[in-house]
Amino acid sequence: MVFLGIETSCDETGVGVVRACGSQPPQLLGAALHSQVAMHRNYGGVVPELASRDHIRRLLPLLDEALGQAGLTLHDVQAVAYTRGPGLAGALLVGAGVACALACALQVPALGVHHLEGHLLSPFLSADPPAFPFVALLVSGGHTQLMRVEGVGRYQLLGETIDDAAGEAFDKAAKVLGLGYPGGPALARLAEQGDPAAFALPRPLLHSGGLDFSFAGLKTAVLTQARKLGPELAARKADLAASTQAAIVEVLVHKALAALRLTGLKRLVVAGGVGANQWLRAQLAQACARQGVRVHYPELTLCTDNGAMIALAAAMRWQAGGWLPQGDGWAFDVKPRWPLEPWSLAAPAR
Ligand code: ATP
Ligand code: MG
Ligand code: FE
Repeated sequence: MVFLGIETSCDETGVGVVRACGSQPPQLLGAALHSQVAMHRNYGGVVPELASRDHIRRLLPLLDEALGQAGLTLHDVQAVAYTRGPGLAGALLVGAGVACALACALQVPALGVHHLEGHLLSPFLSADPPAFPFVALLVSGGHTQLMRVEGVGRYQLLGETIDDAAGEAFDKAAKVLGLGYPGGPALARLAEQGDPAAFALPRPLLHSGGLDFSFAGLKTAVLTQARKLGPELAARKADLAASTQAAIVEVLVHKALAALRLTGLKRLVVAGGVGANQWLRAQLAQACARQGVRVHYPELTLCTDNGAMIALAAAMRWQAGGWLPQGDGWAFDVKPRWPLEPWSLAAPAR
């Protein structure tokens, strides 16, 4: 069965084509992506109205590109999946509207996918896919969560951030350092030339005993340090970047290992944009090797938002014999705020 996936929850327009046969691992046949980063950069963040309008402009050309890559036409598509939430309402509506119109025209099902489930399952498209059960560390621009994952649709939230997400912490610190938007990757690049032990920044909730995170205070700590440095900042920027990255990563690694100990599981999946961070990968590799834990990541191109993970999540849910508790037909709504856990634990029903 051929699944088309459409992602428009924020500032990336993504289309992916995935084929699922029986119970075999779904395969990625084609993917096309447009990032709006350059457009939003002038404003220092995502402007929702501009995002929606750009999704409208980009979606159909990307659809052609992804199908072309797959060597397929629209008539080969057997289900159209789209990101139903969480995300920006106007942006979500573009993807949902296009997906449901397409599905109606093709007389195939339209499937509303949870964006975080897409991130969570994205490592299944990698060369080294995980097996259930595992602990998932979901670290994106809007979320930081630890989950126990027993199977498709069987997720238990173990802990999450009580304020900012890890990606947000990277971005806010980068802004303080004048690294532009979105600063996460830029901060990571600069950190390569710095000393991670140069500044003692706080590790919020490190020894709280629980699995929740808090990153909001870090931005203030970086700002205070930057002010203290005054004119010296320019020469110490790389050190401050490296110290910031080290603080965020130490907390993520510490809590991920605590979650593994708590659940007794020996497999960790890291998904979401911050999963692309090389320092995080290196620190996790070291810590997990000591504990006999295997770590799985999505391919680098699938760490941040994309349509492939949406098609994949739809395909895997379909294979697991269930679908989302959503109305029939091609009517749609979107869910800008949508926790993953409450509905996902329910046994999927056809
Ligand atoms: P959500 O999925 O929670 O709605 P999102 O889709 O905006 O949020 P992603 O696209 O998964 O989030 O990830 C984007 C975030 O990842 C940004 O905050 C970005 O700065 C961060 N990020 C991307 N690459 C890196 C990197 N190499 N190091 C650190 N952070 C990074
Ligand atoms: Mg984005
Ligand atoms: Fe995302």
